[in-house]
Amino acid sequence: MSREQQAVARARKAFETGRSKPLEYRIQQLKNLQQLFTERQKEISDAIKKDLNKSEVGTQLYETLGLEGEIGLAIRKLKEWAAPRAVEKNLLTLSDTVYIQPEPLGVVLIIGAWNYPWAVTIQPLIGAIAAGNAAVVKPSEVCVHTAKIMDDLLPLYIDKELYPVVTGGVPETQELLRQRFDHIFYTGNSTVGKVIMEAAAKHLTPVTLELGGKSPCYIDKNCDISVACRRVTWGKYTNCGQTCIAPDYILCEPSIQDRVIQEVQKSIKDFYTENPKTCLDYGRVINQRHFKRIMAMLEDSTVAVGGDNDESDCYIAPTVLRDVKPEAKVMQEEIFGPLLPILPISGLDDAIKFINKGEKPLALYVFSQDDKVINRMRDETSSGGLLANDCLVHYSVSSLPFGGVGNSGMGCYHGKFSFDQLSHLRSCLIKKLNMEGVNKMRYPPHTHKKLGW
Ligand code: NAD
Repeated sequence: MSREQQAVARARKAFETGRSKPLEYRIQQLKNLQQLFTERQKEISDAIKKDLNKSEVGTQLYETLGLEGEIGLAIRKLKEWAAPRAVEKNLLTLSDTVYIQPEPLGVVLIIGAWNYPWAVTIQPLIGAIAAGNAAVVKPSEVCVHTAKIMDDLLPLYIDKELYPVVTGGVPETQELLRQRFDHIFYTGNSTVGKVIMEAAAKHLTPVTLELGGKSPCYIDKNCDISVACRRVTWGKYTNCGQTCIAPDYILCEPSIQDRVIQEVQKSIKDFYTENPKTCLDYGRVINQRHFKRIMAMLEDSTVAVGGDNDESDCYIAPTVLRDVKPEAKVMQEEIFGPLLPILPISGLDDAIKFINKGEKPLALYVFSQDDKVINRMRDETSSGGLLANDCLVHYSVSSLPFGGVGNSGMGCYHGKFSFDQLSHLRSCLIKKLNMEGVNKMRYPPHTHKKLGW
């Protein structure tokens, strides 16, 4: 048996003992996970620093604080989430007990991505534990140090048979994908998302696909451009542009393009100093492969701000591109790096048309003082999430489902949505054996006389 097969078999066996099901056990595991965060914060930050050059505070802000909030919420709400949910009855079932009983699915496979290597891998695990499942955790191999620390630490705090970590790259993931799971939760790019879905289809395994894509950002001329640009600059260059919901590009009227460039440039300086390369808060592109991919996108566009780079350090300065054409290289795929193209368009109609020509994005941003503009953008486009007058923060609201639509993914999670996503919502109808008289109408022979019609 391969290492991957063994981990899955052990998780299945542990699940079959039933020990992941009692709520007290789930809560204890979540508390242990919380303890890991409290006691090992430094080791987690050090690993992420080595992988992505994220500062310690940055790691707390963007990787661990949100998870701790999610763990706390799950602990507080688990009894309520797991309880039978009463539903409306129809005439035929008035005297019955009718409810939804969430039940664990079984063994879940969690495949994480590298850009927020701790958050996007552990967050689904919180949902899997809360829902009473076993879960095999596969962190991204691209973040070597984070994968190692996850592999070292998780078994010290949570049930290592129910929640094993399997490290490795594509061959190991593919070996895992040959096994039978009860759910696969994948975070990563849309191309691999298709590979995952194909593998899952062989066992009819349901999937959650948390993917990416080009998230547009429309800046209306009727808005506080300075504030809008500060928020966009934050959303774009955090984690060096390697955020699934980073605003990918800006759409705005030509009359405000220069102003937008100036304001973004000013915010870059305010956030990351004159020399972002030496600024603790400015990250690095994950590796040379991605460095080359991102630099190649610059070839046919005009740099308005930034553009400096250093391959040996995987450094690309926060960069703004002006007068970008839809055919430009930078517009052909998700950028996932610190380039911000600006596409001049003639107004809202044009922006909506442009957005609707592309794949449905994971996030859509609109900056405007005018509610009509925001409402039109909401009503005439589709995306995983819509955020007006800010970037990224919808991710932090546990009461909102986080997920994509179409090419940006399927299924959703966070808060109770994670619990529901990784549970089977079982329909239960409990009848008594008495009152047989009321059933006589449904038994044959079916006659008009019996029905009274
Ligand atoms: P990645 O390279 O780390 O891949 C993700 C996972 O897929 C890894 O665990 C890897 O082992 C596995 N994998 C890669 N190729 C595979 C293959 N051929 N077969 C089986 N498994 C394979 O990460 P990535 O895909 O570069 O991540 C970046 C993408 O993820 C971006 O598109 C980003 O928008 C998206 N993303 C989405 C979210 C979200 O919540 N929706 C969050 C983070 C990242």
